[in-house]
Amino acid sequence: MSSIIKKYGQLISKSVDNNPDRALKLLIAGYDLNKLKLTIVSDKKLSTHQRYISVLSNKSINKPLKNPETSAIVSMFAPCEMLHAVGISPQFTEGLACYLNGINTQEIFINKAEQYGVPKTYCSYHKILIGAVVSNVVPKPKMIINTTLACDANNTTFRTLSDKWHIPHFTIDIPGRKNEDALDYVKSQLLSLKDFLSQNSKETFSEDKLKEIIKCENESIALYRECFELLSVKSISNDMTSEMYKIFSTHILMGTKEAKKYFEILKDDLIKAPLKGDATRILWVHSLPFWQESLKVFLNHNPSIELLACDLNFDMIVEMDESDPYAAIANKLLSNTMGGENKRRSNKLLEMANYLKADGIVYFCQWGCKHTLGGANETKQILEKSGYPTLILDGDGCDSSNVNDGQMVTKFAAFIEILERENG
Ligand code: SF4
Repeated sequence: MSSIIKKYGQLISKSVDNNPDRALKLLIAGYDLNKLKLTIVSDKKLSTHQRYISVLSNKSINKPLKNPETSAIVSMFAPCEMLHAVGISPQFTEGLACYLNGINTQEIFINKAEQYGVPKTYCSYHKILIGAVVSNVVPKPKMIINTTLACDANNTTFRTLSDKWHIPHFTIDIPGRKNEDALDYVKSQLLSLKDFLSQNSKETFSEDKLKEIIKCENESIALYRECFELLSVKSISNDMTSEMYKIFSTHILMGTKEAKKYFEILKDDLIKAPLKGDATRILWVHSLPFWQESLKVFLNHNPSIELLACDLNFDMIVEMDESDPYAAIANKLLSNTMGGENKRRSNKLLEMANYLKADGIVYFCQWGCKHTLGGANETKQILEKSGYPTLILDGDGCDSSNVNDGQMVTKFAAFIEILERENG
């Protein structure tokens, strides 16, 4: 992190207690400046799709900060297609927390959350969000929408925020098993969400618009499938931050024209990319510690180590029935590999490791993410039984004070050495 960003973060942190409005203004100005920089000065290491998504993600984070009255705080797996249909901009936990880390303000917000009573063991992404809300820096959105998928922190964080702000809150309960009853149950909740969105956004919910969004989503998914097909035989330079940015396109912006453009550019870049060579191909599980300098050396634009994808970016690549958007979204939510028993996620990882010809898998145990921590050993066993060496790596995707950097790097370096030796 540059010294300018460090100082900028300190300036914001100092304003949090006495002048949260100023802290917000500084945050917005910082992101605006960063967007300008990303647009004007192009980082030569980045491919076109990576430059594009860095600007799009920036816009997606800053818009709800600038226009909270037309925004919603959401969980990563929320059906944002329905929000886009009524012009509500989603702000999601992991995205905002990472952006607050990127501007070096994570510490103050984690402290604020812990002073508020949030336990130290809680997921750091959620701690940062809660800290930024209770310190009155994040402005009050119009509503809160979350699912119960994957993340047990969902059930407490979003209730805490709605109590603090006194704003409408909608939770979609996603059962662990997909069957006819579960599909009907989730669909009926989505129909209630439609009424909730109409009432609280003051926009008439247009089903035609939602169908257009679903159509665009199908086109994006078709492109994304082609991208994976190309990636199975190609080699493309990647980095942890770009892989995290991809979550914007695969989740909260899915169905928008901007996200579709991302998949078009990604496909173009992959067509131009060389065929896969001798580099060690790594499949990543869960979020990435994009801020960690010591791991950047290995994973960012390294010609001998290829970061293929993180599984958050292939958790719900599902074709949608455009004629019945609510049933289609219900099916997508119930098919998410993060839901249900752990085997669903492990089997998808195995399928993708085979398909993308991975050499090894890194299972990142994000601090406080009980769902991921709980599945670590079973997934490792499943993957290793099929011949994929798997490293379980404990770390923190956004709290830099919460990692044992030396230990992580030693483990990671040893793992890469083993893979390289096995590859000859
Ligand atoms: S890391 Fe886990 S607990 Fe934290 S926000 Fe993501 S899914 Fe939820």
